[in-house]
Amino acid sequence: MHIVHLTTELALIAKVGGLGDVTSGLSKALTEAGEQTEVILPFYDHLDRSKLEELNVEMEGLLSYEDMSPYPNKVYTAKYHGISLTLIEPDEPKNYFKRGVIYGEEDDLFRFTYFTKVAMEYLLKSGKHPDVLHVHDWLTCLAAPLYHEVYQSLGLKIGGIITTIHNMKYQGICSPDELARIGLHMDHLLTQDKMQDHSEPNKLNILKGGLTYSDYITTVSMTYAKEIQGNEGFGLESVLVKRKEKLVGILNAIDTSYWNPKTDPFLAKNYSVHDELSNVEEAKIENRKALYEKIKLDYDPAMLFTCISRLAKQKGPEMIYFAIEYVLSKGGQFVLLASTPEPELKKEFYSLAESYADNPHVHFHFLFDEALAHITYAAADCILIPSLFEPCGLTQMIALRYGTIPIVHKVGGLSDTIFDIDHEEIPKEKRNGYTFDFPSNESLQWSIDRAFENHRKHPEKWHLMQKNGFQKDWSWKSPAQEYLTLYRKINSSKPV
Ligand code: ADP
Repeated sequence: MHIVHLTTELALIAKVGGLGDVTSGLSKALTEAGEQTEVILPFYDHLDRSKLEELNVEMEGLLSYEDMSPYPNKVYTAKYHGISLTLIEPDEPKNYFKRGVIYGEEDDLFRFTYFTKVAMEYLLKSGKHPDVLHVHDWLTCLAAPLYHEVYQSLGLKIGGIITTIHNMKYQGICSPDELARIGLHMDHLLTQDKMQDHSEPNKLNILKGGLTYSDYITTVSMTYAKEIQGNEGFGLESVLVKRKEKLVGILNAIDTSYWNPKTDPFLAKNYSVHDELSNVEEAKIENRKALYEKIKLDYDPAMLFTCISRLAKQKGPEMIYFAIEYVLSKGGQFVLLASTPEPELKKEFYSLAESYADNPHVHFHFLFDEALAHITYAAADCILIPSLFEPCGLTQMIALRYGTIPIVHKVGGLSDTIFDIDHEEIPKEKRNGYTFDFPSNESLQWSIDRAFENHRKHPEKWHLMQKNGFQKDWSWKSPAQEYLTLYRKINSSKPV
């Protein structure tokens, strides 16, 4: 089967968060399963070209519109860790992908709709007729309405389109005039059954277009698939309820060959999930010492808590703020590794960091730092994930792979992956962390207290959580099969 992923992120060459992990983990697993998998990605200027193999120009002069004028685009092919890439490099005056960043630009809407349009143009002109076009979030799901409304009649043939929702919150709202700037005249889609936004009736909602025009909609956990048909639908719940027969939750996974404490090159001391737990503990201490040397903290055997996250409203920043102070007050230590896309939160956390500038038990690192993330996963005892909503969440899976215990708000994918150590009705072999039902400082405090208590007085509970985390298969093997089943289903239901 020829499967094309249209995406704005691919770990590690273009990663901001979970989306990048998912597109690379899934395409790698599909390629390994023998499927012809291709990933179409913008050729960002900060993408490390030295990591690419077999980089070739595939097509030049592919035209697309920006500010109503046509501009040429160059299309490259390359290989990255066995994944076949198609990279689109526009040559237009706004330099859409030469900004040194992936998101956060004022004109993100134009940047990514432009990219999606060029990708469709490329599929048409290259004569490729993929069996599956798999698009991700509002960022690329405009491809679904574009196919049905424009490109199919121009001769492009696609077996089926899947839109995966990684986060309902971001929907891509724009006026028809804005899309006209990139040569898309879609005024006729401004109707309720097509792309009209629910709160701004004179605007188009790109995510809604993806949900309406795709053959299947998937999202990244079973619980989130239910939640988005209700409270977490961000206004699109009725669209999802209407299409619920075509909505499937497939739990994300992680690339276990990359997130592997046995081979991880960022660790000071490697360890295996098959080691005796005492060896794991020793290795974690070595990694803690190396981490502390790096971030200039004094080594101390006190419990180390961490949070590795984007600092956005979704991630429960008030609770993270509270937890840092609470953990320190209980004699624990804290490492916060967080990128700060939201200016208000950035201000608050920078001032918190300043107030702890001389405290040797806490470290704030406000950058995206892959290397530091790895050693922190290995060094910490607990990771906090108090998200208000969480489509899937990957940090809890990565943490468990490194023997670090998650404390999570029981919501979305966190609810499908983390099971409380103290809940008698949960089978013992599933229990792998701490969960709380209501997102409040009190609930988080209750779980932090339990973690301190168990770590100190009930090593058998701690070891059970670690063992259960180690034994679980977090790889893409099984979710990739679920996607393949879906891909086959859409293709078998189409007339030849
Ligand atoms: P998101 O909502 O941001 O996609 P996920 O839990 O799905 O959250 O994925 C987060 C991914 O980003 C994980 O691989 C995590 O290790 C990584 N990550 C988050 N913040 C940082 C950071 N500051 N530095 C390095 N990696 C980070």
